[in-house]
Amino acid sequence: LDLSVNFKDRLFTIVKNNVSSLSRYKPLPDTCPLCHHSCSPEYFFVYHRANLETDILCGCPRNDCGALFFAGYEQDHYGNFNLRGFFPYRKKNKQFPEEIGEISPDFTEIYNQSHFAELEKLNLICGMGYRKALEFLIKDYAIKLHNDQEKQIKKMPLNSCLHKFIEDQDIKEMAERAIWLGNDETHYVKRWGSKDIQDLKNLIDLTVFYISMKLRTEKYKKEMAKN
Ligand SMILES: [Zn+2]
Repeated sequence: LDLSVNFKDRLFTIVKNNVSSLSRYKPLPDTCPLCHHSCSPEYFFVYHRANLETDILCGCPRNDCGALFFAGYEQDHYGNFNLRGFFPYRKKNKQFPEEIGEISPDFTEIYNQSHFAELEKLNLICGMGYRKALEFLIKDYAIKLHNDQEKQIKKMPLNSCLHKFIEDQDIKEMAERAIWLGNDETHYVKRWGSKDIQDLKNLIDLTVFYISMKLRTEKYKKEMAKN
């Protein structure tokens, strides 16, 4: 049985889930790029393009997804195929605690736009987006705490706002460092050369965590006040 088909000088090889024939493809997909669940996809065929690029047509085995997608590979000089990416790919929003979305919907929106920019490998500009998201988070939280001073908070430089209006030490310490790294992403000279976007995101995560803890604590204190 010939499992290869030539069509207009392009070679298709039918795979029919024969995973051992794909041993040189590294790694094989273990999540679906559309529903983002872990899975062992079904493999239909391999399509060899004229250059060193090769695509595998895969199928998500989940009943409520069942999407078809391509895993794209590039051959190296050892004959191995290295994964380059998936298409189509459905971007997935980063989820934040509910109370964060309530005080600062702009934060979650700007953060996720930056996250998508990062997924598109726009790594030189996504940091600025994360910095902007952080500004909305801190200022919206400050406004929640001091809503009589909303006008002033909106106009203030972020760092002054943090020091003047946020008292919680954990929030302050993490947000301050996030601001330092965020500024590195927008300025010509980088001061924290050993830190990168991942560190900035970690610090924003920690800031989100402490703000969320604080908001939830306050909520229960208010709802279940002692007499
Ligand atoms: Zn799926």
